[in-house]
Amino acid sequence: MTTETFPEIREAVRKLCARFPGSYWRELDRDRAYPAEFVRALTEAGFLSVLIPEEYGGSGLGLKAAAAILEEVHRSGCNGAACHAQMYTMGTVLKHGSAAQKQAYLPGVASGELRLQAFGVTEPDAGTDTTRITTFAKKVGEKYVVNGRKIWISRAEHSDLMVLLCRTTPRDEAKKPSDGMSVLLVDLRQAVGNGLTIRPVRTMLNHATTELFFEDLEVPAENLIGQEGQGFRYILDGMNAERILIASECLGDARFFIDRAGQYARERTVFGRPIGENQGVQFPLARAYVQMTQAGLMVDHAATLFEAGEPCGTEANMAKLVASEASWFAADMCLQTHGGFGFAEEYDIERKFRETRLYQVAPISTNLILSHVATHVLGQPKSF
Ligand SMILES: Cc1cc2nc3c(=O)[nH]c(=O)nc-3n(C[C@H](O)[C@H](O)[C@H](O)COP(=O)(O)OP(=O)(O)OC[C@H]3O[C@@H](n4cnc5c(N)ncnc54)[C@H](O)[C@@H]3O)c2cc1C
Repeated sequence: MTTETFPEIREAVRKLCARFPGSYWRELDRDRAYPAEFVRALTEAGFLSVLIPEEYGGSGLGLKAAAAILEEVHRSGCNGAACHAQMYTMGTVLKHGSAAQKQAYLPGVASGELRLQAFGVTEPDAGTDTTRITTFAKKVGEKYVVNGRKIWISRAEHSDLMVLLCRTTPRDEAKKPSDGMSVLLVDLRQAVGNGLTIRPVRTMLNHATTELFFEDLEVPAENLIGQEGQGFRYILDGMNAERILIASECLGDARFFIDRAGQYARERTVFGRPIGENQGVQFPLARAYVQMTQAGLMVDHAATLFEAGEPCGTEANMAKLVASEASWFAADMCLQTHGGFGFAEEYDIERKFRETRLYQVAPISTNLILSHVATHVLGQPKSF
């Protein structure tokens, strides 16, 4: 949101982020290590509980406040991916959990005592076609016994709880492919070593993502969220908040690249003049600013609908698409503006460049958003 909403919060986030400069992130990036200190600071400042209602110990400020926080984190050169899911994964419990589950978990999530920031949906053989997941939870007495495999489950090693989507009815026995999936809240502290194995996946960015193997993992039946068989709908419900918040991170990244490129273009002198004097350098910078501003309006629109409780699936997806493209354009522009120095680790451009590329693939890839718009909005025939 390029309009300066929540100025005090933004200022406080900027101050906090100033304690975690590029050198902090570069060191973690080299070792693919988790930014525990940064996450602790955000937690203690109360920034990760703004979506949790006051009755459960959060500040209940809402999605636009959360968006402002993540935008500033990214604008400052930091990265919210290590903990952004602590903000919104609890939405599944808040919206679909029982009164007892909310009371049991939400106050702990709000204080940060409980980390609920793992979200297990993707599987290697299903990909984006979520109805093809095969991780299965079989009800045996008062327990579910879970078997299967997940991939790209981020922060599982740094989370106490995980929202897990699995099948409770095989796809071919369900009325519709999207029926027969359920959400379980898995206590990772008990699960690891007792039916759950977590294997880190090293990626081109420092993202703490993992692969999960379930072998007869027992989960108490009371950890089922909502109704058995309705899990896909619950997960879809939570995705709008995620899309809008990720889009806000993209806006922050775009702003980071534009700030850095603008400063460098003013200062770097070649051929006896600042490179920014050349329109070949100015125009991509200006275009990046135009694209970021345009994306900011879309993100704000989607967040306004979300906060009003209106349907916003299409808008949240479109916001994520344009914001991820704006951040990528800005990243490329910034690297080009820096010439060779853009590739040097110490400038942080190459790190942020790698980080922002993710958003055109995860949490949903651009093609799938285009397909949604083509078929759901523009009435084109479905291709799958
Ligand atoms: C670093 C990282 C972190 C992640 N964290 C999580 C997490 O915490 N939890 C979780 O559940 N998942 C997570 N994911 C998974 C992420 O959501 C998926 O990678 C993403 O949704 C794309 O799915 P896929 O990788 O299976 O691609 P696929 O579905 O295999 O698709 C591959 C490519 O083909 C294209 N494609 C596929 N089908 C079509 C079609 N019909 N028409 C046109 N194009 C098509 C896609 O757009 C994509 O570009 C993470 C992924 C990464 C890389």
